[in-house]
Amino acid sequence: MVHEVRGVVARSTGEPVSVETVLVPDPGPGEVLVTVQACGVCHTDLHYREGGINDDFPFLLGHEVAGVVEAIGDDVTDTAVGDYVVLAWRAPCGTCRACRRGRPWYCFDSANAIQPMTLADGTPLSAALGIGGFVEKTLVAAGQAVKVDPAARPEAAGLIGCGVMAGFGAAVNTGNVGRGDSVAVIGCGGVGNAAIAGASLAGARMVIAVDIDPRKLEWARGVGATHTIDSSTVDPVEAIRELTDGFGADVVIEAVGRPETYRQAFDARDLAGTLVQVGVPDPSMTIELPLIDLFGKGGALKSSWYGDCLPTRDFPILVDLHLSGKFDLDHFVSETIGIDGVEEAFGRMQRGEVLRSVVVL
Ligand SMILES: [Zn+2]
Ligand SMILES: [Zn+2]
Repeated sequence: MVHEVRGVVARSTGEPVSVETVLVPDPGPGEVLVTVQACGVCHTDLHYREGGINDDFPFLLGHEVAGVVEAIGDDVTDTAVGDYVVLAWRAPCGTCRACRRGRPWYCFDSANAIQPMTLADGTPLSAALGIGGFVEKTLVAAGQAVKVDPAARPEAAGLIGCGVMAGFGAAVNTGNVGRGDSVAVIGCGGVGNAAIAGASLAGARMVIAVDIDPRKLEWARGVGATHTIDSSTVDPVEAIRELTDGFGADVVIEAVGRPETYRQAFDARDLAGTLVQVGVPDPSMTIELPLIDLFGKGGALKSSWYGDCLPTRDFPILVDLHLSGKFDLDHFVSETIGIDGVEEAFGRMQRGEVLRSVVVL
């Protein structure tokens, strides 16, 4: 049986997205069909629409999904009909060289659905990050559907599927923030705010939020920033050093993805400190660094893909932290919108007016 549903499609570079009829097949082996309840609007969706990821138009956008499993393929055993799930864009294969070496968060062969979802005329859709979530039903690999506590409302839980996990994991998994650390986070959108919350929960004694937008600094205070720096008015490197007895922060998280902010993060790091880049750069960007400082400072320069998360381990943890009042996922839900509101939500996201708009289906 083929399910005829509505979904948000990007047809070509820069063209406004449109709500189209999408055909979703029943799940085959290894696949599950998920009824989408909510899906957050992420910068990556906009990057797809702008042709910044690849040219495989048309795209079915959306990838921060919470929903309920409606049907499962023949051989699916770990997921059951009725399970409340958050979808992950990493489903470790278990057999690639990274998985075999015990580092599945680097999996090089992450699983996705095999059958394509299509437009009404049969044109196959490229699902954003292997998910495609602004749609009433979506088809994914069973391993992408991660069961979590249904007590968490879908608008909040779905955000764990990308931005919140990326930021939280950048602090906790990649940056390995620990008790007593000083941490600076440059860029306080959804990902940066999640990094601040993660650092705070991990026991950082000081969490410095840096942004050029006072509104974002206010949000950052709401998730545990102990200090804020408006980098449109002061030099953030100097300001971070001042707050850390002249030394710099133990961990600096770059959540913007630009050479200028990377350089700030590099310079604001203490000796033997860690820089974590979680902001996604444009493919054209380059950076020049003094090699002597690169060598002399020691420590680590790391990048964090999806917060180095293991969805089956980390998603339920974040939901449980939310439900126990330690990590407020609702903080990230700035507004809920209908499926036809995605294009306008891109505008609000670009103007920095929201942490997340969430499509409710
Ligand atoms: Zn693998
Ligand atoms: Zn995303």
